Amino acid sequence: SPILIWHRRDLRLSDHPALFEAAKTGRPVIPVFIRDHVVDGLGTAPQWRLGLGVGAFAKRLGEKGSRLILRSGPAREALEALVEETGAGAVWWMRAYDPDSVSRDEAVKSALKEKGVDAQSREGHLLHEPWTVETKQGGFYKVYTPFWRAVKDREIRAPLGTPDTLTAPQSWPDSEALDDWGLGAGMRRGADVVRPHVRLGEEAAQARLGAFMASKVADYDETRDIPSVDGTSGLSENLSLGEITPHQCWHAGLRAREEGKEGAETFLQELVWREFAYHLMWHTPRIVSENWKEDWDAFPWNEDERLKEVKAWKQGRTGIAFVDAAMREMYVTGRMHNRGRMIVASYLTKHLMCHWKIGKDWFEDCLIDWDPASNAMGWQWSAGSGPDATPYFRVFNPETQLDRFDKERTYVRAWIAEGQEQPSDTALSYFDAIPERWHMSPDDPYPDPIVEADEGRKRALKAYENRDF
Ligand code: FAD
Repeated sequence: SPILIWHRRDLRLSDHPALFEAAKTGRPVIPVFIRDHVVDGLGTAPQWRLGLGVGAFAKRLGEKGSRLILRSGPAREALEALVEETGAGAVWWMRAYDPDSVSRDEAVKSALKEKGVDAQSREGHLLHEPWTVETKQGGFYKVYTPFWRAVKDREIRAPLGTPDTLTAPQSWPDSEALDDWGLGAGMRRGADVVRPHVRLGEEAAQARLGAFMASKVADYDETRDIPSVDGTSGLSENLSLGEITPHQCWHAGLRAREEGKEGAETFLQELVWREFAYHLMWHTPRIVSENWKEDWDAFPWNEDERLKEVKAWKQGRTGIAFVDAAMREMYVTGRMHNRGRMIVASYLTKHLMCHWKIGKDWFEDCLIDWDPASNAMGWQWSAGSGPDATPYFRVFNPETQLDRFDKERTYVRAWIAEGQEQPSDTALSYFDAIPERWHMSPDDPYPDPIVEADEGRKRALKAYENRDF
């Protein structure tokens, strides 16, 4: 009987344990993607990028003589209906770890099993299943460095190849049309601006990894912190949707390290930051929605989204160049340099004293590389409320950061048009990416800081010192 492969964030053919195993059985394989409440609950840009990814993956399956069957509705009902229609005896999928997916998957698994279906989840999104890394005391890790030490020398299985053939069923079940779903419709005109920056699908992801290993990884140590330099892999976009696997990245990193490429070790460490984020989310799912350190509930955060400071932060018009440049980079490319993410998060949570959830939710709406674990960890790290977080009293100064990481102001000029005689195309395209109702023009004067670096720092520290926690 056929095997249904339920695809979610695993839009690839290579190194796909469920698909690989299924192909090996010689039984017919029916790949399925379901638009369920988890998909509907995604932010605008992640949902839009997912839609592109699903389209590209369907095409790739087509080239293999297979298909991607699209259905919408609650996953359990959709799968049960497909089992009924196709006579499938098995439903396999790749594990997800965010709280919403975990509760859905548990319910689906037990319902299918009750009906006698071989329902199985497989590893593949992570190098280390979160429950396989334990401290000596038997708990989970709350600090990165010991986590890194615990996993750095572990053997990682080699990536699996692409199945040679996927046996088609005698007849294909009906499929809905991707275009009818209108995924990420809220992107509106922003879609045209971001689209050229997207590296779509498995082959593009492999090309990205190859190019990074060929030319960038050697200097990665030095260039990864400079936002005007294209010195990082850019793979977060593809890792997020499983267009590439961490195993493929890890082994490429190991090879580069063996070849003596300096930055390779740091690249491996960064991959383990991603693992650490998942480790934390698995063991403390509330990290995605609540202060990880509960005593932070007493901090006087601003929680009102309508505050003019929040609006200015979102619009990239705080008057703080590093912050505004980074926010604009996000609207144009769908991504933001890691240094920028740290600066805008610090400015929002410390200088503006706004709750990190406002920023987390906004990133969740705007990033094409949105990742539930890394985003939550990144925000709580920046705010000071997370495990292994930067202490609240260490407030990034966006001006000295600029002197350190954008000395020539190349990054700022690339993204902020106001005040420049001949702004770059990238800086101008920001005005095409944002909603018209923001009423912004490159001819506007660049605003004065809404909260000066020093003043904001003092205010934040005062609140922190007066805290009753
Ligand atoms: P590279 O430098 O090439 O690193 C390789 C890979 O390592 C990345 O693709 C990523 O998977 C992983 N990695 C690197 N840095 C981190 C990190 N700090 N935490 C976790 N994993 C990391 N990353 C996301 O993928 N999605 C998010 O939604 C996200 N939100 C963030 C929010 C905030 C406030 C902060 C401070 C960081 C966030 N990050 C997020 C982490 C980091 O900024 C990105 O992973 C990185 O910028 C991606 O670029 P790259 O692929 O070129 O990374």
